[in-house]
Amino acid sequence: MKKLLLLLLCAGFLHTGPVFGWGREGHETIAKIAERNLTKKAKKRIEKYLGGHSVVYYAKWMDEYRKTPEYAFTDGWHTAPVDAGLRYADELLNPKRGNAVYGLELAVENLKNYRSLTDSAVAVNLKYVIHLVGDMHCPAHIKYTTHDMKYDVLFEDKYHKPHKFYVHSVWDNEIITTTRIWSVSEWADELDRVSKAERQAIAAGTPRDWLHDAAVCCEVQFEWAKPDQQLGQDFLNKALPLVESQIQKAGYRLARILNDLFD
Ligand SMILES: [Zn+2]
Repeated sequence: MKKLLLLLLCAGFLHTGPVFGWGREGHETIAKIAERNLTKKAKKRIEKYLGGHSVVYYAKWMDEYRKTPEYAFTDGWHTAPVDAGLRYADELLNPKRGNAVYGLELAVENLKNYRSLTDSAVAVNLKYVIHLVGDMHCPAHIKYTTHDMKYDVLFEDKYHKPHKFYVHSVWDNEIITTTRIWSVSEWADELDRVSKAERQAIAAGTPRDWLHDAAVCCEVQFEWAKPDQQLGQDFLNKALPLVESQIQKAGYRLARILNDLFD
């Protein structure tokens, strides 16, 4: 009986459980790419507020604290809605729930005056920025109002055995954990290899522009992973470059926001 209950709980978690955005590897690699692109001055100032830690150390912090009473108000901040034109759907914003763009814009506004904030207020707003730039670049965390996003797929393990997964967790975790078993430093070192001009072009614009770009690039997810479809190597060969491109862009954009604020 106990076993059955556990099984049911696990199944429930897989299909309707909380959604956390990129898993550890995705968030930390984004932060690592950002860290590599911070100016010396910005890095030093930021780390002073983070108690001597790097931006990588707190990349997942928002996922770890979203269920604690003190930060429960941020629980709805991990996804961002786009309209039929794939632009940020401002009108869908419920201020009580918020979303990734809402939280990010709020934190950036707060940090513009970081010298007049308490050290702990600066630290928490920094943790918001570090995480939310990542979440809004994750295919499954862009909420397309024109697509059904709640379905399962059959994702193959390394022995080509299919397992039922909520499609969301395939994008958050499975693609990465089955293909990139590297440290975040190694992965960041591979992805952070574009010219200065390209980096600047990627990082230009506002968070709303970035969400639009992400929504355009990631809409193909509905072609590549349809309900109940079995996803094997062919899927990974398409999905991984998309995931890596999103992580790379998020890293450069995060660096730009932080340099603008703290350099
Ligand atoms: Zn998240």
